[in-house]
Amino acid sequence: MLTRSALIYLSRQEGLKEFAARFKPFKKLTTRFIAGENIGEAVAAIRQVNARGCTASFDHLNESVTSIAETEAEVSEYLDVLARIDETGIESNVSIKLTQFGLEIDPELAYRNARRVVEDAARRGNFVRIDMEGSNVTQATIDVFRRLRAEFGLNDVGIVLQSYLYRTMDDARAVLQIPARIRICKGAYNEPPEVAYPDKKDVDHNYVRVMQLLLQSGVYHGIATHDPKMIDATIDFAQKEGIGKAAFEFQMLYGIRRDLQEQLAHDGYRMRVYVPYGKHWYPYFMRRLAERPANIWFVLKNLWK
Ligand SMILES: Cc1cc2nc3c(=O)[nH]c(=O)nc-3n(C[C@H](O)[C@H](O)[C@H](O)COP(=O)(O)OP(=O)(O)OC[C@H]3O[C@@H](n4cnc5c(N)ncnc54)[C@H](O)[C@@H]3O)c2cc1C
Repeated sequence: MLTRSALIYLSRQEGLKEFAARFKPFKKLTTRFIAGENIGEAVAAIRQVNARGCTASFDHLNESVTSIAETEAEVSEYLDVLARIDETGIESNVSIKLTQFGLEIDPELAYRNARRVVEDAARRGNFVRIDMEGSNVTQATIDVFRRLRAEFGLNDVGIVLQSYLYRTMDDARAVLQIPARIRICKGAYNEPPEVAYPDKKDVDHNYVRVMQLLLQSGVYHGIATHDPKMIDATIDFAQKEGIGKAAFEFQMLYGIRRDLQEQLAHDGYRMRVYVPYGKHWYPYFMRRLAERPANIWFVLKNLWK
């Protein structure tokens, strides 16, 4: 637990972020989790993901952006990504973070930036997922999402909720009223016990409760996890309730439990792989190490190769 908190703490250090982006030798350590630095490399990775029977979601890595010019560059990047998806015919949607679009500068800016991406995706028949970040921006993220969802359709834009937050069951019920497509995940940030379950078993228990609520809603949701217990609970519940395999999708991260990804796709489940790419890989990479400290050994081994 201490290691997890320490790694997440390090993931938020601006100086280390800048250093990591510039220090080339670090880059080769990231290839297990990060698909590359540019769109071309991400497209190549997604072609392979598609060939394994899975769909994908592009994620251009960047977060907590502090300049308006940088948010503008992020919008351009995503407009390019949406165009490339159409040109190449790969099976992919996109995931965005609102702090990448300026949420911590001004929520209105983040809304306007995200709106441009959602509008373009809707025009192309594609879909934008708004990732969920730290609890300091949960409400602001939901507020921007609600505005976008009021303007665009169910299949144009969706949101993420995290089962470690106490508030998530209420949020899920409220957002389902709209209705909206939800990705449920456990949550990847350091959260205090005032807002989040400190014990993993409670996080897991809440995950199952929210998953069941989502599956019963009749809306197409994303069940994002690598945890075989969560996956079995989903499959069992769907079978018991007579919910078809095409009524929801499993989602996993690039480079994690590829065996399980392929198994689920082979068994006829819909499987989407979240494919991150870009220069600002450091915070994302550190959160992956935090989830499984054994990954540190994997990284250190590669360092000596
Ligand atoms: C598609 C997708 C999108 C996500 N989007 C968000 C988001 O928007 N906001 C957010 O806060 N979080 C997001 N997450 C991260 C999520 O919240 C968890 O931190 C992460 O998925 C680990 O939780 P788990 O459900 O896999 O279960 P855990 O209990 O953490 O792990 C279960 C098992 O999965 C494997 N595993 C898990 N993580 C790793 C890893 N890093 N390396 C190797 N093996 C691993 C291990 O075998 C582990 O025993 C997302 C996750 C996925 C899959």
